[in-house]
Amino acid sequence: QGTLYLVSTPIGNLEDMTYRAVRILGEVDAIAAEDTRHTGILLKHFDIRKPLISYHEHNKEEKGNYIIEMLSEGRSVACVSDAGMPAISDPGADLAVKAISEGITVVPLPGPNAALTALIASGLDTRQFTFVGFLPKRGKHRGEVLRELSQVKGTLLFYEAPHRLQEVLQDMHDAFGNRSITVARELTKKFETFVRTDLQSLVENLEQLTYKGEFVLVVSGADMVETEAADISDASASYADAVKE
Ligand code: SAM
Repeated sequence: QGTLYLVSTPIGNLEDMTYRAVRILGEVDAIAAEDTRHTGILLKHFDIRKPLISYHEHNKEEKGNYIIEMLSEGRSVACVSDAGMPAISDPGADLAVKAISEGITVVPLPGPNAALTALIASGLDTRQFTFVGFLPKRGKHRGEVLRELSQVKGTLLFYEAPHRLQEVLQDMHDAFGNRSITVARELTKKFETFVRTDLQSLVENLEQLTYKGEFVLVVSGADMVETEAADISDASASYADAVKE
């Protein structure tokens, strides 16, 4: 039987590609990629030529079976997403489950992940945390999920799309009240910024928030409500100042 490798790739900085990731991608029989064009650029950079299989949310059933067949026949396959760790708010989780249930060896390759990268420089508690990922898109459902999360102890980690930033911050403030928050934007890239502030200050300046780039929202947990918000906020930089380029 072959081996399924879950290969982490950079979240914006090609220097974060690991030696092992380059080696494994060069050794496997095929690479299952969320977006073959996107991964093609990465592979070209590292001078890797491999057959690519498109594997994403909308074809994961059919392509998943095809990949499992390849693995069962003894071929090895690497699964990559567009950025960061596969299977973390990205394709790969179902494939890993399928492979494990078929008795196929699954080997994870550690590497960049936006949530943990944001957490360690957030200034918030790193001892205990909950990875939430993307919240529901619909406001009503999102409000319910946030109200449940308002009881959770430990730091909360969220992914969000830029165009929903304003409404999500407002909903967080409605559900949590005031809490410390760090907006970690464009991690590992040229315009990497950390805005260490609190929900209240962000909500008061909502219309100034820009929508550019990718970001992770790191929010203090139920046990940390309003603790030291003033101390860890970056008093000199409003979000708007920090993100203007
Ligand atoms: N699998 C990825 C990982 O391991 O982090 C996450 C993929 S998820 C589809 C994309 C989300 O991750 C973005 O909407 C953003 O919230 C976050 N993200 C990815 N790259 C980022 C970066 N360079 N800076 C800040 N956030 C990033």
